[in-house]
Amino acid sequence: MDAGRLASLFREVNDRIADLAGGDGWNAESDYLCECGADCGGRVTLDPASYEALRRLGKPVLAPACVRAPARRPLAA
Ligand SMILES: [Zn+2]
Repeated sequence: MDAGRLASLFREVNDRIADLAGGDGWNAESDYLCECGADCGGRVTLDPASYEALRRLGKPVLAPACVRAPARRPLAA
């Protein structure tokens, strides 16, 4: 699977995690998958509000190690 498809798959998984974490008035922190597209295994702990803020800005969820490694940035869709 190429990096772009992997990143969008992980984005869908993260959306499901956010739905579950933010449902019914919950605001539980959850571990989201790093969306760098490299299947790096990175996890990012976010509360649903922080996750929604990233989504509103159109930014991917990136583990700290991947933020520091530009080569692993997601490819443009
Ligand atoms: Zn990553």
